[in-house]
Amino acid sequence: MVQGHDKEDQAHLTLPMSNIKHNLETIKHRIREYEQKYQRTPGSVSLLAVSKKQSPEKIQSAIAAGQTAFGESYLQESLEKKAILNDPNIEWHFIGPIQSNKTKKIAEHFAWVHSVDSIRIAERLNNQRPETLPPLNICIEVNVDNEKTKSGAGPENIHSIIDYCLHLPRVKLRGLMTIPAPKSTFIEQRKSFHELAKLFNQLREKGILLDTLSMGMSDDYEAAIAEGATIVRIGTAIFGARI
Ligand SMILES: *Cc1c(COP(=O)(O)O)cnc(C)c1O
Repeated sequence: MVQGHDKEDQAHLTLPMSNIKHNLETIKHRIREYEQKYQRTPGSVSLLAVSKKQSPEKIQSAIAAGQTAFGESYLQESLEKKAILNDPNIEWHFIGPIQSNKTKKIAEHFAWVHSVDSIRIAERLNNQRPETLPPLNICIEVNVDNEKTKSGAGPENIHSIIDYCLHLPRVKLRGLMTIPAPKSTFIEQRKSFHELAKLFNQLREKGILLDTLSMGMSDDYEAAIAEGATIVRIGTAIFGARI
């Protein structure tokens, strides 16, 4: 073992739980600062704590610090943690890629789905949403940078997906979501988010009642808030590196 560096390299693995409380407070403080800085309505940006690949213990410390909304990307993992935590006050958001064979469990176990990117997935979620639960809140994931390999619907398909979702009784269309390709400058980060915000505003001008722009992660949430994000999805800046 090389002496000296190990402690620092491993610091994220042994992150004391109290850091999670501290990290949450820091991020919430910054969100409030950015709301002011970019003339956003105070309190208009909410924090989704992205807990994928994080332990139930870490989620528990975030709950103890007052966090209630958590984002997960992998169905099996999320169901296991949901059963362990068994807390009806948690609002679970599904934010990962969706295969058709996963829609039933997603419709049964989540309050929100941010990553709907086709009519087929929207239809399945609608049909499989249990009648005992309120309609499933959904966002359409848009591939704003139009990268071939990434998930999300191309901007040219958005209008047909949205028209379809508006007629579904068991899902409630709330807005748009994006995961842009990583950018090296703040200006570049803002450009992608600006594209999504433009689309969002066009839809609202057509009279479609959307209230959610889900955009911004640990490395780019300031740019997302500057461009109008209403939900930022933050993982590593709260919980440390993922396992
Ligand atoms: C993992 C993930 C995040 C959080 O990313 P961090 O960089 O850890 O903040 C946000 N959104 C989605 C869709 C993710 O998959």
